[in-house]
Order: sequence, then structure tokens, then C-alpha cells
Amino acid sequence: MESFREGKVPYLHCLNCKRNFFYPRDRCPNCHSSSLEVRVSSGKGKVFSVTEFQGKVYAIIEMEEGFRLYANVLDKVEIGEEVIAVKGDGRPNFKRVSKP
Ligand SMILES: [Zn+2]
Repeated sequence: MESFREGKVPYLHCLNCKRNFFYPRDRCPNCHSSSLEVRVSSGKGKVFSVTEFQGKVYAIIEMEEGFRLYANVLDKVEIGEEVIAVKGDGRPNFKRVSKP
């Protein structure tokens, strides 16, 4: 079994409306509450949209906790593919989850 160098993906959970969204914000974009809690994602998500620019792959990833973020993907991926966060510089990168 392959072991992943998992990147940490922090996100915010609103204690008022229970929505999850990407870090950093100081108020909930849904209900404007400031009762927010930082949580750490599993790192698993699916490609929501993908763009290639100068040989690099960028994608909007929909995380399994329900929030989306924009990130660099180390592999060529297609919409709907499963990806996982790996360590990047400053922010997480993603790579394709290899299918059995
Ligand atoms: Zn809220």
C-alpha cells in the first residue's frame, strides 16, 4: 500500500450554520457569523475544474468536507478524478489517487 506524504489542509467550520469553507476568512461567507473553528481536512477531494497553464496543472478541488479550493496538481488530471493533498511550499499541492 502506498503511503502518502499528506499535506495539511486547514479549513474553517462555522459553528452557527455548520458550513465548511476554505481558510482564511474572519467571517462566515454564508451567515456572517464570526464563530469559526479551524479544522484540518482529510486531504481528499475531487477535481471540480482543471486548467493547464505553462505546463502546470491547476484545479479547483472539491474537498470531501464540502469546501472548494484552488491548487496546483502535480499530475495531469481530469474532472471528477480523486486527488489527495501533499506537502507543497506554503500551501498544499495535490496529486492523483492511484486506482487499485
Ligand atoms: Zn455560518
